[in-house]
Formats: sequence, structure tokens, C-alpha cells
Amino acid sequence: MAWGPQKRWTTNAKYSTFFGVEDTKKPSFSSNKSTVDETTVIAVKVFRFLNVFIVLVAIGVLVAQFWFNHGCIIRCDKYKYNEFPGFGKVSEFLHTYPLFSKMSQTDLETIASNLPLPQWTQTPQEILAEAKELIAKDKAFYDKIAAIEEPTVENVLIPSTEYENAQYFPVNKLTFYQYVSPDKAVRDASTEAENLLDQASIEQNSRVDVFKVYNKLWEKINGTDATDPETMKFLEKTVKFYKRNGLNLPEDKREEVKKLKLRRAELQTKFAKNTNEENGHLEFTLDELEGVPASIIEQFEKATVDGQEKYKVTFKYPDILPVLKYAKKESTRKLAYIENQNKVPENAAILKEIIELRYHLAKLLGYDTYSEFVLEERMAKNQQNVLDFLADLKEKLSPLGEQELQKMKAFKKEHLKANGLPDQDEYYAWDHSFYNNLLLEQEHQVDHQKISEYFPLDKTISNMLGFYESLFDVKFVKVDNSKSDTVWHPDVHKFALFSNIKYGEPKNEFRGWIFFDLHPREGKYTHAAQFGLQAGYEKPDGTRETPFAALVCNFTKPKKDKPSLLKHDEVTTFFHELGHGVHSLLSRTKHTRFHGTHVPRDFVECPSQMLEFWTWSPNELKVLSSHYKTGEPLADDLLDKLIKSKHVNTGLANLRQMHFALFDMKLHTIADEKDLDAVDLDKLWNELREELTFISNGGITSRGYATFGHIAGGYESGYYGYLYSQVFATDIYYTHFKADPMNVEKGLQYRDTILKNGGSKEVLDILKELLGREPNSEAFMKEILGEA
Ligand SMILES: [Zn+2]
Repeated sequence: MAWGPQKRWTTNAKYSTFFGVEDTKKPSFSSNKSTVDETTVIAVKVFRFLNVFIVLVAIGVLVAQFWFNHGCIIRCDKYKYNEFPGFGKVSEFLHTYPLFSKMSQTDLETIASNLPLPQWTQTPQEILAEAKELIAKDKAFYDKIAAIEEPTVENVLIPSTEYENAQYFPVNKLTFYQYVSPDKAVRDASTEAENLLDQASIEQNSRVDVFKVYNKLWEKINGTDATDPETMKFLEKTVKFYKRNGLNLPEDKREEVKKLKLRRAELQTKFAKNTNEENGHLEFTLDELEGVPASIIEQFEKATVDGQEKYKVTFKYPDILPVLKYAKKESTRKLAYIENQNKVPENAAILKEIIELRYHLAKLLGYDTYSEFVLEERMAKNQQNVLDFLADLKEKLSPLGEQELQKMKAFKKEHLKANGLPDQDEYYAWDHSFYNNLLLEQEHQVDHQKISEYFPLDKTISNMLGFYESLFDVKFVKVDNSKSDTVWHPDVHKFALFSNIKYGEPKNEFRGWIFFDLHPREGKYTHAAQFGLQAGYEKPDGTRETPFAALVCNFTKPKKDKPSLLKHDEVTTFFHELGHGVHSLLSRTKHTRFHGTHVPRDFVECPSQMLEFWTWSPNELKVLSSHYKTGEPLADDLLDKLIKSKHVNTGLANLRQMHFALFDMKLHTIADEKDLDAVDLDKLWNELREELTFISNGGITSRGYATFGHIAGGYESGYYGYLYSQVFATDIYYTHFKADPMNVEKGLQYRDTILKNGGSKEVLDILKELLGREPNSEAFMKEILGEA
């Protein structure tokens, strides 16, 4: 697809020049060919030349230094790059000299600390007041649109894109507090604000008068070149959105659609709130926690219960997961597993109602199932494609999973026998984490505790940033938190991102902010996720709004005498989330709607999954690691064993993902009322798990689905996307990086196709551009079956 006239801010497409001789060669000053043979004349000439040369260089250095510093700061403050003709050339020249490269590093820190940042100081009252203001503004805007009789690009389309772009951050900011604010009143206000905003946007999105205006314009300019392709796509998506919202329907049906949506939004918010605010815990004696490393037990709060000293284990990941993994006593693991699954029981009824609402919505909108409604907008296109994909995977993974299970059963039997415990034939859901870890330790000698000593949080993160810096030619610059209102909690760190450090133009371009909020605390979001708080876009005056994103994770907090040590899977998790982060920061679209991670949901994981491969690559792991006491990289034997373990129980692990994906699809492919009435979430969740993963529930019904936030809102009929996008991720990695993971040329090519374009073009087209062919699943199958 050809790109529109706004191409002036796209920086580059040709990599050959960046890596050619031109870029590395030092400029030459001695080009005059002297034919004079008198040595004195030559000596005098050389002397004069050197004098002039030295003076010129000195002046040049001073002027360039001033120009460079001055230019750079103005450039980044205003986010304007085209104001200094010739600047790029000088700056590129200067960067080839170490002296100036060093200067620019200091500059970047100065620049970064002077860049504007949003503040996070709103009170609950302000949050609610601002939500109401935004709602009023929204209504006023659409009233204006609705009143336009002769819609044009200028009076409808451009104002709409500008309005939507400008609203992006204010709305996100208000709703973000609920996940991260340390103040419960602020979190509550944020949840309430989201509710109000959701309800109001449903109201606005149901306006036929507005739809008619956009539709009229679309019919008028569709197929013409009345505007650039991305803005045309904006209009096309807008019209489609209204149609998918039922605005083509008769009035009574439209009203019904609206009612269902309002209720659904309310329930989804409630589901998320219940999960986030969950603060239950279990109490175990030291004896019951046998096997759990002392370093983990240290982090549990102590309490005296009935005269007995007990440890409080919350359901937050850093607490509950080690118990499931290390506790030797089956009774401890069993209780931890079941209670963790059942920690938010009130969400069961909420999910059931959400499923019913979705079913009725799909029917009203003329779709056979809710999945069909969702998937027409995805890469997979329809439910049959998804079901076929999952069935194919199931067929290929099941024999492998079954084999692995037999091995695990035998392994468990041996372990029980060796410990003088009664024999068991079954292998239970609460066994897997423990025996899987034991197998890795004993047979593969993978000692995850030991490995974690090589991944102290701060150092590992700075090493990781180094990777992204080399691969994508960017620089993360940390800015301290002395202006504390620019973060929502003192634990949060912020980095400014610059690009084109060595290659391309314009040099040292500010690309946005990334926030790291890494440790658990009460009321905080309990998983790991990236929040794209602000999306980049082109402002009416042609300058760019820069994006910012937050990585919200739950890694153990460092103590005074001990750093936080990351497990290898946590390293991978962080790499993954950072992958979303750079997708958000290195994208460059005209409108927020298509920026960065705004791609079809079954593709959105691809960039992050692709980057996960680096955390399994030997050389890269060496560079990434640094022992917290000695600073040494991961020892060869540990590294070797770790990498060999990558495919241990990979069948079972992927079948577990299949369980989530199929549970989701079963709920959203219900095609008639009778089946809907018959849905039994408990039964479906538990039976499907046993059927797919072969692992026994022990006859106990648990309700893990009641904390399955993905399908309550956001990933409904979309969980398969985690597996599906791996097809593309693996294809890209195998094609471009497997042989040479730090190939910068490939890194930049990837940056400037996949990351840069976001959802502004058809993803399949971008993939074809990058791969030079249609994507296929060969690499994925090899990888997932451990045949690579
Ligand atoms: Zn992800």
C-alpha cells in the first residue's frame, strides 16, 4: 500500500546506506594532490596548512558544540525536527567522533530531565469532575458533527481525528489510577470514572444522527483520494464501528443493543475490580511450608493464630507461586492451588451474565455467535479458522503431552517412594508446578533459585535496556524521581527513549516515556502488563505528540541487604512486557487509533513473543546476566542446562494454554438459546482442563475462570491469539534473527516495519514486507513441538 503525503516524518527506509562505507569512514581533510617536489616548499605548505587546519578545527568545534547543544535542546523540547536545515548533517558528522558521542550522552540526560511529563496528583473529586467534563465535551463534539448536513473531509473527518487524538491521554489517565494508585479512594474514583465514561461513550456511540453523517461522507469519498490512506482508514473503521454497534437496525433493536452494552460494561468493570481488590490470604505453619526456600518465607508476614506462629501467604504471585512450586507437603499445595483458583468466587455469576449478554448482542447484530462478531475484525477472520487452528494444535500436541504426563507420573511415584509416602496413580493439578520444578532440578539440574542469583533486578533491567538499545538503535535515559508528582508511587522509575543514536535521521530523536512500576503493593494490578497511556499522533501543526507507556509488574521488592532476584521466567516476562512497551514507543502513525499496539488482537502479542526468544539465546543470556555478588555472567553449565530445559514439558504447557483458549471459544461460539441455558461454567472449566491437559482435578471443582480477566473483558474470543500470534513471532525470529540475534540491520528493518506501522496498514501486508513472502507456521510447529 502506498503511503500518503504525510510521509515527511518517516525517517528512513534504506538500510544499506546506514551500514555502508559512508557511515563508518572518517571524513578526510587531505585531498589536495601536490606535484611540487621541493621539500622546503612542501614543508612550508604543510606547516601553513596545519596552522590553518588547527585553527579551523578549533573554531569548528566551538561552533558545532554550541549549535549541537542548542539545536538539540530546542529540537526535543518542541518535538520539531525540521526547523534547522542542515542540522542533521552536522549532527551526523559530529556523532562519528567519540568526543561528540560522549557529549550527546550527557545532553540526552539534560534533555530528558527537561522534557515535560504528566502529573499524577489528581484527587478523587478531581478525577470524577474531569470525567464529567470529558463526557460533556464528548456530547458537545458529537452534537456538532450531527448537525452537519454536507459532510466533508474538512468539516467532519479532520476534526474527528483531531478530537479523538486529543482525548486519548485524558481518558486513559483517569482510568489508569485504578490499577496503580496507592490510595484506595483514588482507585475507587478511577473505577467509577471509567464506569461513567463507558456509559457515556455507549450513549454517544449509539447515535444514529452521528452515524448518518459519517456514513454519508464515506459513501461520498470511498474509493477516492480525498485524503491520505490512514485518515481514510479512520473513516472506514468509524463507519464499520457504528454498523457493528447496530446503528443500521430499527430503533427498538438499537435501544436493546445499547441496554445490553451498558450492563455489560458495568459487569466488566465489577469483575476487574473484584480481582484487583482481592486481598485474601492463607496461613501456614513453618512445617507446612517445608521445601519453600527461606528467602521466600522471609517475605511472608508472620501472625500468631491460636497460639501458633503462622505465615501469611497472599494470593499475589510472588507469594503463592513459590508455595505451589516448592512446598513438599501435598496438603499445602492442594489448599494453595484450590484457594487460589477460588479466590474471587463472586465473579462466577458475573462472568455467566457477561456471556449471556454477549450472546444476545451478537444475535441482535445479526451474527450467528459472538465469536463471529469479534473475529471478522481479526487476522483469523472467522471462528472456523480459529477452531481449526486449535484442533490442529491439539492433535499435534496431545501425543507429546500424554508422553510427558506418563513421565511425570512415573517421576512422582519415584519421589513418593523415596520419601516413604503412600503411592499414588494420579497426577493432580496441584502437583504439576512442584514436580515440573523438581524434574528440572533433578534430571536437568536446572536450579532456578541459583540461576536467579545471576539476574538481580536493577542490573538485569539495565542490561535488557542495553539489548533493546543495540537492536533498535535507541537509548533509554533514566530520569530521577525528584519531581515526585510525575510518578504515581515512589517505586516507579521513568525513562525517556531516544532513537537514531547511530543510524538514520534525525539523530537522538525523543520518542517518548516509559514507566516501570515493578513491585506488588496492596490494591495494585496483580499481573504483568503494559499500559499504553498516551499514543503518538500527528498534531494539527504538523508536529508529533510523543507516546508514553507503563510496565506494571509484580516482582519481589529488593531488601536492604538483598537485591530482588529475577527468576528466568520473570526475565522473560519483563522482556515480553518491554516488547509491548517499545511497540508503543517506536510506532509512528498519524492517528492514535492505529498507534503501536493498536493492531488486531490476535497479532498484538507477536512483537513481545518474538523478543522472548532472546531470553533463550546463549550469547544474549550471558550478556544479560550478572551475578548479584560477583557480577559474573551466567556460568556455562547453568546456561547449558537452562537452554536444554526450554522444551521440557512444553506439550503440557501449551495444552494448558489450549485449555484457556478453548474454554474462551466454547463460551463465545454458542449459537442457540438452549446451549446458552445449559452452560455450566464450573463443569466446562474443570472438564475441559482434564480433557486437554490430562492432569487430574482430583474430583474437586474449582473456579479459576472467575479470575480469568482476559475473557471477562478484552480477550473474549481472543485468548487463542496468544498461540496464534506465536506463529508470526516464530516465523519472524527464525527468518531474521535465529542465526544472528543481534543483527542491527534486521533489528532496524523490524523496527521500521512492524513496530513503526502499528495498525495503520493491514498487518498481513507489513508482515509480507518484512518477510519477503507470506507468513507460515512451519517454524512455529518446529518450535512448539521442541523439534528446533
Ligand atoms: Zn503480552
